[in-house]
Parts: sequence; C-alpha cells; structure tokens
Amino acid sequence: MPTSPQSPHLPFGDNIHTPWYGKDILSVKQFDRKDLDYIFGVAHEMHGMVDRIGTFDLLKGKILANLFYEPSTRTSSSFHAAMERLGGSVIPINNVKFSSVSKGESLADTVRSLECYSDVIVLRHPEMGSAKIAAAAASKPILNAGDGVGEHPTQALLDLFTIFSELGEGEIDGLTVTMLGDLKYGRTVHSLARLLTLYDVKLNYVSPDILKMPAEVMEDVAEKGIPQAEYASLEEILPETDVLYVTRIQKERFENPADYKKVADEFIIDPEMMQLAKEQMIIMHPLPRVNEITTDVDSDPRAAYFRQMEYGLYVRMALLAMVLGKA
Ligand code: ASP
Repeated sequence: MPTSPQSPHLPFGDNIHTPWYGKDILSVKQFDRKDLDYIFGVAHEMHGMVDRIGTFDLLKGKILANLFYEPSTRTSSSFHAAMERLGGSVIPINNVKFSSVSKGESLADTVRSLECYSDVIVLRHPEMGSAKIAAAAASKPILNAGDGVGEHPTQALLDLFTIFSELGEGEIDGLTVTMLGDLKYGRTVHSLARLLTLYDVKLNYVSPDILKMPAEVMEDVAEKGIPQAEYASLEEILPETDVLYVTRIQKERFENPADYKKVADEFIIDPEMMQLAKEQMIIMHPLPRVNEITTDVDSDPRAAYFRQMEYGLYVRMALLAMVLGKA
C-alpha cells in the first residue's frame, strides 16, 4: 500500500525525552559533574550487564557508522564491540582509501550520506575541528573519536571512569594527576586536563621542552582555578602523584623526523622508576605504547592501562545508549 513520504529521522520507539537523546559528543567542555555521574552510572550498569549476560538487545535494529580517517585499534574496535554488545550493528569504514573520500568527497557529504544508512556516526579525523564540521552537516549524533591534535572526549570520559573505578569517586577530589610525554600533540591529555577541572585536583605536566601542554589548554585549566605546574623531570614529582598518565610521543605529528628522534625516549617508566611512586598510585596510558613504559611494568598492580581499555567498552556502550535515547 502506498504510504506518504515520512521524515527519515522520525524515531521509532526511542525515548526522545532522555537527556542525551540525539546529542553530539564533540568536546569535554559540554559536560558538568552531574553529567559525569550520570554517564558513570550507566557505564557501571553496562559493566554489570556484560558480566551477567554478555550481549543484550538494548540497541537492536540500530546501526553505527564507524568512520575512521586515521589509524585506530582500541577506539574503533571498542565502539564496534560496544554496539554489538548492545545488539546493534556496525558499518565499519576504516580504510577511507577504498571509500569515496579518495575521489575527493568532502567530510560533510560523507557524513550526510552515511546518516542515511545509520543512526549514529563515530568519527576520527586528522583535522582539529572536523567533528564540529561533521556535526553541523549531520542531523544524527556525531561522536568525536579524535580530531587531530584537538580533543578525544570519549577517551577522556573513559580515563576519568578508570580513575573513578580504580581509586573511588570520593577520591577524585584531592588527587594529584601527573601527565607525562607528548602534551603538545597528545589530544587525550588536552581533553583529560579540561575534564579534570570539574574536580578539585592538582595537575602536573612533565614533557620534553618542545612538547609542552598548549597554552589554550593551560588557560582553560587556570580559568577554573585548578593548580597546575610544569616540570622538566618526573623524579621530583612522582612521589606525590596519585595518577600517572603517560602518553606516546606522537611521531606522525612531527614535520621533521629528526625532531622526533631527539625526544623519542626522553622519559621511560621502568620498575626502578616505579619504586619512587606511591603504593596506591595508578599508571595509565591511552595506548598504543611505544617505549615509554617498559613491559616489565605490566605485572605491577599499579599498571592500569589494560584495565583502562576495558572500562572504555562500558563508557562507549553508555554513550551509544544515551545518544540513541535508551539510557
Ligand atoms: N590512541 C590515542 C589517540 O588516538 C593515543 C595515541 O594515539 O597515542 O589519541
């Protein structure tokens, strides 16, 4: 029977009154502390559900377009796994060489096309601001999975959920968090530093001289009245650190490979260095690691970086359920 044309965007059985329904997740700047409590509550429930039943049908019939213009292992596979754990399905596009992008298609046209086939789009792109451009073009939710050296908000949420789960929520206030490595190009620390300003924390930055935390991030942190300080050596600050957040030197962002070589192995965490750290400290890393943490640190109970990946699955399940009106 012929039917009259309908808007392709009409929700079918979604609860459009849930607070995150249809929203984009572009920057950590959009969250307040209440939002974080909410996200972590949902992520905690997701953890319980995965432990009890593995896969369930909360997002049955929903489709995620997982659009990656830059390499990714954890972010793309954890979003993929999150969607499948929730009973939904995925269009994976992680080799844009084989898509119309190689024919010169704009990002706006690509996301406009993909939203005809999907309910939500996860985007990683090498240019800062790209997620915002995609969100302006699309009417379905866009989740920023890393925009060049800009932000990586879903990583920051999972990082904070890791701290919350490992050290306890009451203890985020009062923590000293030390960020180490490539603070200039490392988008995860840009997002995490900003997100941590919602708590009463102290931030330390340790990096090679040419890879310092960008001024705009430090200004955002200062504006919130959060104490922050830069150090040239880790040894002086490690004994008072509660969370050591290590990052890789972002080789691909260097114009001159010789500059990368000069700083590549400046800071290395090994068991000897860990002797300076508190018994209760956790060491985190967004991964991939290159040489900055030696593999013999992995068996130290303070090494939280593989547990951190698992927390990421639950946070990404929570975010997908929220923007699709199911949580
Ligand atoms: N996986 C993280 C990111 O995409 C960290 C890294 O690549 O070093 O930003």
